Amino acid sequence: MKKDFIVEIDESELNLFNKKLRTLSSFKGNGTELISLYIPYGADRSAIMTQLTNEKSQSSNIKDPNTRKNVQSALKRIINLLKQIDFKIPQNGLAIFCGNISKQPGKSDIRLFTVVPIKKLETKMYWCDSEFNLEPLKQMIITTEIYGIIAIDKNEATVAILKGKTYDIVGRFKSNVAGKQRAGGQSAKRFERLREEAEHNFYKKVSEAVNQAFVPYESKLNGIIIAGPGFTKETFLEKDFLDYRLKNKILGLVNTSYTDEYGIKEAIERSKDLLKNASIIREKELVNEFLASVIKTGLAVYGEKETIDALNAGKVATLLLSEKINKTVYKLKCPNCGFEKTLVIDESEAPNLKCDNCGSEMEIVEEVDYIELLMGKAKKMGTKTAIISTETDEGEQFWKTFGGIAGVLRYR
Ligand SMILES: [Zn+2]
Repeated sequence: MKKDFIVEIDESELNLFNKKLRTLSSFKGNGTELISLYIPYGADRSAIMTQLTNEKSQSSNIKDPNTRKNVQSALKRIINLLKQIDFKIPQNGLAIFCGNISKQPGKSDIRLFTVVPIKKLETKMYWCDSEFNLEPLKQMIITTEIYGIIAIDKNEATVAILKGKTYDIVGRFKSNVAGKQRAGGQSAKRFERLREEAEHNFYKKVSEAVNQAFVPYESKLNGIIIAGPGFTKETFLEKDFLDYRLKNKILGLVNTSYTDEYGIKEAIERSKDLLKNASIIREKELVNEFLASVIKTGLAVYGEKETIDALNAGKVATLLLSEKINKTVYKLKCPNCGFEKTLVIDESEAPNLKCDNCGSEMEIVEEVDYIELLMGKAKKMGTKTAIISTETDEGEQFWKTFGGIAGVLRYR
């Protein structure tokens, strides 16, 4: 198996990434004023700065005064950000989106969003349009969910890994189980025993290969599907040769007519509902685990303040965040008197930039998605993060009753 096949992506990171893409794709500019900038790791700093400066001077030719003003402010914001982070681009690169997202013509509300790609960004891109260009990021999602598929009958087995919409065959096996015709002179009993023995050995051989291929990636596998005609799948499972870590991952059994590569294709087609349900089930389990902790052990916290305090104290084992939390954290600094403050406000609101101290307009030094900030904190504390959608009743209840932020504790 190719080693780079399984990407190291945390499910919560993926959920955050998806959430950001949904938000970004909802914005429309009034003119060609939304800027998308993709910077790969190791990109030449001066080349990018030169390009941005050039774009800024060229933008003075834009006819519409509002669009011109918005493009120029957006470029300024991007340049400031890059200076602020001192061009420290993450290993996977950085995507920056900036522009006027105000829905009212003539009004301007310039926002800047950053996204760290879930896979390595290869090419640099600058794009100015009436919407953000999310294509390079969208292409990364297609190939992230990972499943194992085993198509098996008595004579043949094919093992594959499904990654997004593509699959890779990682093993093909043929058994030497004899056909139904026994050789002359063999007793029926002995023939049957030999057949069973060969079948047993075949299942064992396939299981060993599956264990070897899947166990090293156990934590990244979203699930395993066992396919094939008749009852062979059940027999294969009853033999119990699969590693216990893989058994926990079995999503279900599906009937297919074939057990070669065509059987793998059939299995993918027939297990779409199983695959879709898998992530929903994981979410339900997480919320239920939290509820059980609230009721039974008391090893839980909820609400913003309580949860963040516990997180900072290193007490949280799993941090649960509802994807309904739509907040942005702004770090502001006054260029006039040096006053600094941090604002946490709803994503739909524009920050109030007036300096508390002297009344001048403060500058935005940093803006971060609130969920991303909390996830960063959690990572430092060795805390797992789970992002909970509101697609299930449990998720909805989690948002409405617990405010969408909670933690399962290691200790009190
Ligand atoms: Zn001030």
